[in-house]
Amino acid sequence: MARQLPGKDVVIIGFGWTGAIMAEQLTDAGLEVLALERGPWRDTPTHFATTFAQDELRFYWRHGMFQEASHDTVTFRNNEEQMALPMRRWGSFLPGNGVGGAGVHWNGQTFRFLPSDFVARSHNEERYGRLPEEMTVQDYGVTYDELEPHFDHFEKICGISGQAGNVNGERVEGGNPFEGMRSEHYPNPPMQMTFSQDRFMASARQLGLDPFPGPSANMSRAYTNPLGMQLAPCTYCGFCEKYGCGNYSKASPQTTIIPALMRRENFVLRTHSEVIAIEKSADGSRATGVRYVDSQGDEYVQPAEIVILAAYPLQNTRLLLLSGIGEPYDPQDGTGVVGKNYCYQVMSSVNVFYDDHYTNEFVGAGALGAVVDNYNGDNFDHSGLGFIGGGYIACWTTNTRPIESHPVPDGVPGWGSEWKQAVRENFLKTTAVGLHGASMAHRSNYLDLDPVYTDRWGRPLLRMTYDFTLNDRLLTAHITPFVEEIARGMGGREVKVNRRRGSYDSKPYQTTHNTGGTIMGESPSDSVTNRYCQSWDLPNLFITGAGLFPQNAGYNPTGTVGALAYWSANAIINTYLARPGPLVQS
Ligand SMILES: Cc1cc2nc3c(=O)[nH]c(=O)nc-3n(C[C@H](O)[C@H](O)[C@H](O)COP(=O)(O)OP(=O)(O)OC[C@H]3O[C@@H](n4cnc5c(N)ncnc54)[C@H](O)[C@@H]3O)c2cc1C
Ligand code: SF4
Repeated sequence: MARQLPGKDVVIIGFGWTGAIMAEQLTDAGLEVLALERGPWRDTPTHFATTFAQDELRFYWRHGMFQEASHDTVTFRNNEEQMALPMRRWGSFLPGNGVGGAGVHWNGQTFRFLPSDFVARSHNEERYGRLPEEMTVQDYGVTYDELEPHFDHFEKICGISGQAGNVNGERVEGGNPFEGMRSEHYPNPPMQMTFSQDRFMASARQLGLDPFPGPSANMSRAYTNPLGMQLAPCTYCGFCEKYGCGNYSKASPQTTIIPALMRRENFVLRTHSEVIAIEKSADGSRATGVRYVDSQGDEYVQPAEIVILAAYPLQNTRLLLLSGIGEPYDPQDGTGVVGKNYCYQVMSSVNVFYDDHYTNEFVGAGALGAVVDNYNGDNFDHSGLGFIGGGYIACWTTNTRPIESHPVPDGVPGWGSEWKQAVRENFLKTTAVGLHGASMAHRSNYLDLDPVYTDRWGRPLLRMTYDFTLNDRLLTAHITPFVEEIARGMGGREVKVNRRRGSYDSKPYQTTHNTGGTIMGESPSDSVTNRYCQSWDLPNLFITGAGLFPQNAGYNPTGTVGALAYWSANAIINTYLARPGPLVQS
């Protein structure tokens, strides 16, 4: 029997980046907010001290901070002909668990999507004609210009280090010439580039391209954010990606928001509290709160006036399906919306090996890099190419951590003395250039509930049906040669091209950029939320995260995820609270 708890103004499900943003904004507006996080408490001095934060075995190989796959995982198949099987060990993506979510172990590469990414269907159809029937690409319902102040605020909260390319319509030398207009410069200057970035930039310029420093949530200098949180200059220790930063140098919920939030009397956080359902009123017209289970297995019902679903795209989709909210997507006839338009990211890369130069890639940071955007989005003419979208090309130096990464040239065996010799010769003299490509929505890629496998509470696991589409394959086939061209111009002894081949494989790590499933849009017939991230079905339910993206752009998601969370919080505070109800009439 579940215990009934006293009500709150707001209950937030999940306490990662977007849960923390929502809690900060809504407590600031005077609301009583409770956040429920399934994982443990974590903070910088106790959990990421520099004496043990860089423990590759513990945090990466033994998955010290990721979702516990033995409690709850995802089943996966490439297509409907296959039987989906559980991912018993995470591979291609690494869902977060615990306070701060994946925002603890992210890299910090913090982009804004292009203005045309938000109107992908109308923009591309206007320029290139009708998209194929099976490409379920949609407009967001919100524009870049509407999100701009919220991008700006998130960048200030994070202290992003970067070089603007377009401030108030004025082109700024050295920045990204393709970016949407920004109202202000980045709060911090770009990070210090290393040998590899210098070579990348020189090669790109030689080819007539426009390289710029990657926007980074690793601090290029000491910084105090608008909430008074102080961050320290990055030491380039190279343990950002998949690790917490012990140096207060990487923006995370822990370093930028949570300490300020925990001091507010109208905020409460309960850890080890896993939400198992969103509760609805008898007539199904409102969310009344949530049902959750603590670490003892005791069940509680937490009533609330507003429910915020901030549990990452995969869990957000699953909780809607388990709670019977919204119509599940049906790939046969294209009806239904929950689980629709699951997308990922399409990658390829080229390794460069030097003879005479030490690249010393262990001197790095999660978002230390140089980027070229000439082949991203609609920054180039797609006429006759058969695909839309693109990706950025970058040379990131995130640290070749010794257990995880030891690139060797083509032709070297995968083990034995020859392999060891090649690792010895190349480890300090290598770098890589990568393509980070968009993933366009397709009718056959989606999320639903698995009919066979269940979690530890007996609830169906989420099932992922996903493969790279024709658009994805044409996109990487077209852009990878440009990646190779830049890499060859970097003056190494030889290069090794790692093309994207075959079907999507859930085993090797690629990115934790899972998108879609709870998409936003212009009508309840094709989306789960309206343009304010408010559920079409239950007006007091708001959803955050990259699950809102109708398709994935050629960038890392979190800049846009953060902006959307601030945009949605702003709509709740300034419009919804005065007139609770649908913010858009369907
Ligand atoms: C290794 C790695 C590197 C990355 N690098 C980058 C990068 O460089 N740039 C970029 O843009 N993005 C990057 N990302 C992605 C980025 O981390 C995510 O986009 C971001 O953290 C998403 O924020 P969120 O609030 O939606 O979800 P999360 O931060 O994942 O938070 C969700 C929280 O909800 C909790 N939760 C889930 N289900 C429940 C439940 N039922 N009840 C209670 N709590 C629940 C989870 O435990 C988690 O704490 C990276 C991710 C990883 C893993
Ligand atoms: S590289 Fe910089 S931001 Fe990353 S963990 Fe090390 S000190 Fe922190």
